Amino acid sequence: MMAGNYDLQHLIDNNARWAARVVKNDPGFFRRLVAQQAPEYLWIGCADSRVPANEVVDLAPGELFVHRNVANVVTHSDVNCQSVIQFAVDVLKIKHIMVVGHYGCSGVRAALTCQRVNGVADHWLGHVRDVACRHQPLIDLEPDEAHRFSLLCELNVLEQALNVCSSLTVQDAWARGQPLTVHGWIYGLGDGLVRHLDVAVSGPTDLGKLRERAVRGIGEARRTHTNRPD
Ligand code: ZN
Repeated sequence: MMAGNYDLQHLIDNNARWAARVVKNDPGFFRRLVAQQAPEYLWIGCADSRVPANEVVDLAPGELFVHRNVANVVTHSDVNCQSVIQFAVDVLKIKHIMVVGHYGCSGVRAALTCQRVNGVADHWLGHVRDVACRHQPLIDLEPDEAHRFSLLCELNVLEQALNVCSSLTVQDAWARGQPLTVHGWIYGLGDGLVRHLDVAVSGPTDLGKLRERAVRGIGEARRTHTNRPD
């Protein structure tokens, strides 16, 4: 314990006030959470400080299982993310997994423009550069850099959601008939709103065909400016 002028004391003080406020509104709140957690949702989102998972969907502690990393990437070799998915599905029996990207994502921008941060993050963002390569012809149809950037944010959500669908944990859950839906969402930093990218997969499906349909839907929504910031 540090005495005196601990430089994060303001956060400890914030915490004490928050806990007191919660107990004032609901005296049994923390005691109930100690007994068990039973969230219905797993949020896989970007680590960006402007996209706080619980606040965005207005859920309390205990209601949302969360995994976040730079640019909301899901890969089969990432034991961290795959462990979260497995625990959420096999142990907590969550019913929905939302992959949540956001417009204005620095990681996606770096992947699109091949900016380097000169470190391990460059390797990590290779997964987003792969998404850009896969959809380069579509990205090239966009009229300018801002539109290409927003489109890649959306396509990255789609591809990472498909990676969740093809994970062994999710495939096994569907094979045994466990109710589980994978969703693709994108969040607007400028308006605080979540958009559903018309990706909601509830069982084994042809992921190639799903990708084609979803990409067509994303292209159509962008052409008609349906509920999109750019
Ligand atoms: Zn981001």
